[in-house]
Amino acid sequence: MNRRTVVLAVLFTGLAYMLVSRKKEEAKAWQFHGRTMGTFYGVQVVGSPASEKEINEVKREVYLLLARINSWMSTYDQASEISRFNASQSCEAFRVSREFARVTAFALEMAERSGGAFDPTVAPLVDLWGFGKKEGRNRVPPDADIERARELTGFTHLAVRSSDTLRKDLAELELDLSAVAKGYGVDRVAELLMQRGYANILVDIGGEIVARGNSARDVPWRISVETPRIEAGFGRGQYTVLSLDGSAVATSGDYRNYFRRDGKTYSHIIDPRTGWPVTNNVAGVTVIARNCMTADALATALTVLGPEKGLELLKEYRSCEAMLILRNDDGTFRDVRSPGFNRYLAEDGAK
Ligand code: AMP
Ligand code: MG
Repeated sequence: MNRRTVVLAVLFTGLAYMLVSRKKEEAKAWQFHGRTMGTFYGVQVVGSPASEKEINEVKREVYLLLARINSWMSTYDQASEISRFNASQSCEAFRVSREFARVTAFALEMAERSGGAFDPTVAPLVDLWGFGKKEGRNRVPPDADIERARELTGFTHLAVRSSDTLRKDLAELELDLSAVAKGYGVDRVAELLMQRGYANILVDIGGEIVARGNSARDVPWRISVETPRIEAGFGRGQYTVLSLDGSAVATSGDYRNYFRRDGKTYSHIIDPRTGWPVTNNVAGVTVIARNCMTADALATALTVLGPEKGLELLKEYRSCEAMLILRNDDGTFRDVRSPGFNRYLAEDGAK
């Protein structure tokens, strides 16, 4: 054999090996995708070969579960519980499903603990800045409108009275659970899969994730954290990689949903205390927690609070870790991490 033949033989063997191991990985895993909550969801299951019938059954159960969650919490569905609560001008007790009340109670607790940096009644401000149901982005609203919208917000005007009752003391108050609903949905889908006996799963709704067990490569799931670049010509690139088995992860930031005006960037995350989009230098926040609803809410709260106060708040939540990626003036990034965050870095993602 001449040298060229040897090289070709080695290349061929390598390629064949890659294809066989890829086939093995694929044989062990199945997955499906769909749309929910204005974004995409994905489910992957590893290690349990399943018939087409079984996969279709799971698909249907997940679809129905997400539809049920939307029927409670989607502000885009006029008939949902949240839309009916928002449309109601009554300050009397308002009956809702227990699950909806539970998520609302959790959001109110986060609002209180974060000193109002996180606020599930922020909707009038989100709408005013053009990030809500109503169109109209690309302009800075007049101060008087911001003041008026602020008067219509405030989590202290809302209470969960019992396991299935909400009450507001401001007729126009609206509830917006966008900052926790995806995480809650991920938890519920993961729960459904685990109840069915699947141990190795990855559930993702719009980047909020629960990862349990191993991926098809027989190692804990690897989750990529993207660089929070505003301009993403050829993709944002990878900031780091996490290795997760039995955790949830959520990411918030100013870089995906925003508008630019006069050289300034206005993000969809509003500081309810000022009525303005966040103006700190936090570009992206990644939170790891035991459940995804907590990770989701904390990621939003920490985006508003910034590193110092954010990491203080994090201490109140057991087993939660966070990384805040900050934007430098020259467009580069640096980050601040909670003490245990590095435990979750995959070796090749370590910085
Ligand atoms: P997330 O992507 O989880 O950070 O949630 C962002 C969404 O939550 C926004 O699009 C708004 O609908 C809503 N939101 C914006 N600012 C806040 C805030 N300070 N507290 C709670 N929800 C917010
Ligand atoms: Mg969130």
